[in-house]
Amino acid sequence: MNEKAFQICINPDCRATYSLDEVVFRCKQCNALLDVAYDWDRLAVPTSLSFFEHRWGTRGLKAEGGLDFSGVWRFRELMPFVPADSIVTIGEGRTLLEQNNALARQLGMKPGRLFLQYEGLNPSGSFKDNGMTAAFSLAHRLGRQRVACASTGNTSASVAMFAHKSDPPMQGIVFIGSGKIAYGKLSQALDYGALTLQIEGDFDACLRRVIEVADKLGIYLMNSLNPFRLEGQKAIMYRVLEARDWEVPDWIIVPGGNLGNCSAFGKAFRELFDLGLIKRIPRLAIINATGANTLYQLVEGEKLRWEGGRYDASCIDRLYGDMDRDHILPHTIASAIEIARPVNLPKALRALDVMKGLVRQVTDEEILEHKALVGQYGFGCEPASAATVAGLRKLLSEQIISPDEDVVCILTGHELKDPDATVKYHTGIDMKAVEPPPPVPPTGRGANPPKQVADDLDAICAALGETLPEEA
Ligand SMILES: *Cc1c(COP(=O)(O)O)cnc(C)c1O
Ligand SMILES: [Zn+2]
Repeated sequence: MNEKAFQICINPDCRATYSLDEVVFRCKQCNALLDVAYDWDRLAVPTSLSFFEHRWGTRGLKAEGGLDFSGVWRFRELMPFVPADSIVTIGEGRTLLEQNNALARQLGMKPGRLFLQYEGLNPSGSFKDNGMTAAFSLAHRLGRQRVACASTGNTSASVAMFAHKSDPPMQGIVFIGSGKIAYGKLSQALDYGALTLQIEGDFDACLRRVIEVADKLGIYLMNSLNPFRLEGQKAIMYRVLEARDWEVPDWIIVPGGNLGNCSAFGKAFRELFDLGLIKRIPRLAIINATGANTLYQLVEGEKLRWEGGRYDASCIDRLYGDMDRDHILPHTIASAIEIARPVNLPKALRALDVMKGLVRQVTDEEILEHKALVGQYGFGCEPASAATVAGLRKLLSEQIISPDEDVVCILTGHELKDPDATVKYHTGIDMKAVEPPPPVPPTGRGANPPKQVADDLDAICAALGETLPEEA
């Protein structure tokens, strides 16, 4: 590959490369996931992370085309895959790291050791904006007009928001599993004007469908299978380091759903280390919900490891086969991580390898209890995010994390994303169990109701106003 940035297959026995212009989400040779890769020797890379501090002086909207205003693009030298004039940004990533001593005390940690990274403070209320600005920038450069995603909620909110912030605007199409989405998130997709399809089925079914439909109709895919999203999500780690004056913590704890975020973190630290910008790599803890614990079962139960990329895929196939046979569907209050077949699984294994990581699972009860603690002692978060703090409690009690280590929990989504879960926990009232009145068709001039669609390719194309192209 002659270019300075390109896509490359993560399979060590293949390593096929693709140019950035090629819209391909899995390797055409071997079907493995793709990475965005760089020829760093031919790129201008800072020699120290403190290089980025000068950007604090130009973080207004006018300087540098507003790029330093973004908490993602002020680190653009570390994700140089798109020219500055193609970047689609709205000031995402202006989030904060809180040193929370009150919660540390509750957990039995030494004061000054616990840090909460509030990614819910992004414009659409979740960390997804970090990745979306990156993937939209590429879509913009490629001149794409329609983008689509399957979503447990936050991806759709972010896609819907960025679609209309692109210039020219794009059409955002979001696929949502019926009854599987918190209302805070659904309301965003509708309010931001996305074409919203409620498919009969869960997230995994929606994802399979959207990949198929995007491929057949030439719509650009915005799920975390898209490696450009993960490039943007690396910036979460850069900001954690920045807020700690570039001091590397001992642990990063993150919830595991489709496993894009943890994969991005592993890539970020691998690159920073290889570029000589950090001297050590923190450890990683990925937290599953017990009702959606595929990674936990594989890594802690089956001892599945990355093995330099030659991991035992049959172990995964076996588990998925068992899940199919026993009709096991994921189930957890933390809807953002209610995923049984995480698409980034191989990259997550790699991240665990790079960051000497481990996986834990926590129950819905533990998630809600720790969500209430984050609310009481911090600024709150949504259920999936609180899995990190519940996982931290577990790792402290196992004496794997010690009370005087520096720990950063990534709070992935905003408190107000899922008020139903919060109200139910504190009052016992289940808003979702309340018999709704019969629906009245919306009459507002700006109404954008979701379309109910069967989990069927023709029905979905019809809902998009298209017919399938004839098979060649
Ligand atoms: C998407 C999401 C997750 C899961 O992240 P993955 O990258 O899919 O593992 C966790 N929490 C929240 C709030 C999310 O929106
Ligand atoms: Zn390949």
